[in-house]
Amino acid sequence: MLNIDLHCHSNVSDGMLSPAEVVARAAANGVHALALTDHDDVAGLDAARVAADAAGVTLIPGVEISVSWRGQTLHIVGLRIDSSHPELAAGLAGIRAGRMERGRRMGDDLAKSGIPGAYEGAYDCAVNKQMVGRTHFARWLVAQGHAPDIRSAFRRFLTRGNPGYVEHEWTSLESAVNWIRASGGMAVIAHPGRYAFNARDLHLLLDAFRAFGGEGIEVITGSHHPSEYGKFADLARAFGLKASRGTDFHAPAEGVDIGRLPALPHYCRPVWQGWPELAPHFSLSPA
Ligand code: AMP
Ligand code: MN
Ligand code: MN
Ligand code: MN
Repeated sequence: MLNIDLHCHSNVSDGMLSPAEVVARAAANGVHALALTDHDDVAGLDAARVAADAAGVTLIPGVEISVSWRGQTLHIVGLRIDSSHPELAAGLAGIRAGRMERGRRMGDDLAKSGIPGAYEGAYDCAVNKQMVGRTHFARWLVAQGHAPDIRSAFRRFLTRGNPGYVEHEWTSLESAVNWIRASGGMAVIAHPGRYAFNARDLHLLLDAFRAFGGEGIEVITGSHHPSEYGKFADLARAFGLKASRGTDFHAPAEGVDIGRLPALPHYCRPVWQGWPELAPHFSLSPA
């Protein structure tokens, strides 16, 4: 089987490994093709490309864009993007500026609850100072003894209704899809099972996403329980979307390791169908 992992993070966003270390781990795990999809930034792709060329891994340039839609945050993965495209670059820069402003408000909110210095702490935890996210706050809260582990830090803080959670308007679904498409990429809905939508809203989302030019949806992801794979494979088929597979790897010993997921259900149309850069792997080991 072609081992393709189309969703993972480096320390350019909230992962723990450098882009080169992510690629090395993918190679060690037998991954043939890997998309690095850092949140709202493409700064890791050049280093990932160098490492991938050396390791014989096919690098798919990617990004995971934060979007607000109907009062909820969604993530849209862009695959095979041109990371230097000006429209995409400007859009992502705008989201990162918003992240900084949100981070300060999160810090203020935690300070009101008796935890001062959180923004500065999270900032120190982030390798890429333009990409401070809730995971960096969570790591700092754990390091300071405010929570025993990352999961608890999210449960007690950083999630809706808790200290450190502030509402934030990300970019629109339409803009995210447009930037990805303008740069020559394919837009994919990330981990659909994580959103708190009822069936009607989920169908509205899939229709809107298609209408904007979105093409794919993650079916096999580290965020889905195996019992959910069939539901999203069926939805992909019903809404004319291609299916993607990605671990959403962030760190060793956290969630699913790179490349370690089952294959797509056989009736799915893979997002990677017809990608010429994968041809060498098919001739080595037929999928
Ligand atoms: P942000 O984009 O800064 O709001 O952070 C979102 C990131 O936080 C996600 O990509 C996950 O990596 C992480 N995250 C969100 N919810 C949780 C949770 N309940 N437990 C652990 N990590 C989480
Ligand atoms: Mn993340
Ligand atoms: Mn995500
Ligand atoms: Mn992700």
